[in-house]
Amino acid sequence: MTKTAPLRIGISRCLLGENVRYDGGHKLDSVLIETLGRHAEWVPVCPEVEVGLGTPREPMQLVGDPQAPRLITINTGVDHTDAMNRFARQRVRELEALNLSGFVFKSASPSCGITGVSLGPGLFARAFMAHFSLMPVEEEDRLHDPQVLENFLKRVRAYRQSRT
Ligand code: SF4
Repeated sequence: MTKTAPLRIGISRCLLGENVRYDGGHKLDSVLIETLGRHAEWVPVCPEVEVGLGTPREPMQLVGDPQAPRLITINTGVDHTDAMNRFARQRVRELEALNLSGFVFKSASPSCGITGVSLGPGLFARAFMAHFSLMPVEEEDRLHDPQVLENFLKRVRAYRQSRT
């Protein structure tokens, strides 16, 4: 990696401090921004806002079959599964054109989480990883471990190299 060629990395938008969460807040991850952010050109994505849900909005959870979970609002039971899956399939195709070399997902989200989600991964993360099966992905909290961060950076650089 050179200074003139930052690594283009997708990221769950709330981690950059943008108020896109269901509760109207954000999840700015200063550690991540100060470490990985030095090397990255971020490409932010918020699946729940981009699919057309407002901020704030009712929180959701995954329910049902772990192989094909439904994305349902917790209090009123509205099912956003089909809309989110349609959106995710289209969004990953758009992201293809941006030549990402990795993605940092917000943990424990029914849309973005990889682990720590009941019945996870979240629907967008699931579609992303199915589409970009070789691309390095991580969750923000794991990247606070310097060894995990270093390993992720190595994998991201190797992925970019393999695509040139
Ligand atoms: S976790 Fe994902 S869907 Fe939820 S606010 Fe952050 S970017 Fe949006």
